[in-house]
Amino acid sequence: MAVKAMVFIDGGWLYRNRGILFAKLGEENFEIDYAKLPKLFCEDVANFLDEDCSLIRTNYFGTIPSARSGFNTSKQYAFYDFLEKNCGYETEIHEVEVGTDENWIKMSLAASMMFYAAQPGTFDVAVLIGDDPDYAPILRRVRLLGKRVQIVGVHTSDGKNPPAATTLANRSCVSDFPFLYIDDHAEDVRLVRALVKRICKHCGREEETTWAGPEFFCSACRGRYRG
Ligand SMILES: [Zn+2]
Repeated sequence: MAVKAMVFIDGGWLYRNRGILFAKLGEENFEIDYAKLPKLFCEDVANFLDEDCSLIRTNYFGTIPSARSGFNTSKQYAFYDFLEKNCGYETEIHEVEVGTDENWIKMSLAASMMFYAAQPGTFDVAVLIGDDPDYAPILRRVRLLGKRVQIVGVHTSDGKNPPAATTLANRSCVSDFPFLYIDDHAEDVRLVRALVKRICKHCGREEETTWAGPEFFCSACRGRYRG
């Protein structure tokens, strides 16, 4: 029987460290393949254990700065909606005044992990994407319940291991697998859009595109109506 893994993503941590991920490939920005992201680390668990690993659920925790001027909240809500509908994530989102609320993210992630761990048969391995030492107590207790833990962190911007005070890597009794770094997977988490043929919604002409959005307009129609 396959080992059951549940993934927990600290959205604030991922957002803060995305630059290191991009820099690894020498780029300023790229789209992350969120559908693939949790599966990658389940593959690592499967390889470590030499057993099949099935991804039960991905839980994502994030915030929306509702009062920050100029911030497009509807775009952010659309992103969380995309995670749920297109990537199969379970999201828990909290509106905050400005910036992010790290405490809210950490508290809700810890509560969720403990909740699932306490239900019989939900998962065998918790994969935490978010290397924050504040998670040490929850990870120790989840392990006391007989669950195994995999932690995914990030190197510093110059490729070194993170300083001891800012990582879970050196803490005792928090994980069961070798520490993983998301930037080592930069190439794998980078979204590669397939070129597909789509019909223009306006003129009906067929054109090759990487655009995956709901409505497609061909290059001629886009040029004509843009200005
Ligand atoms: Zn057209």
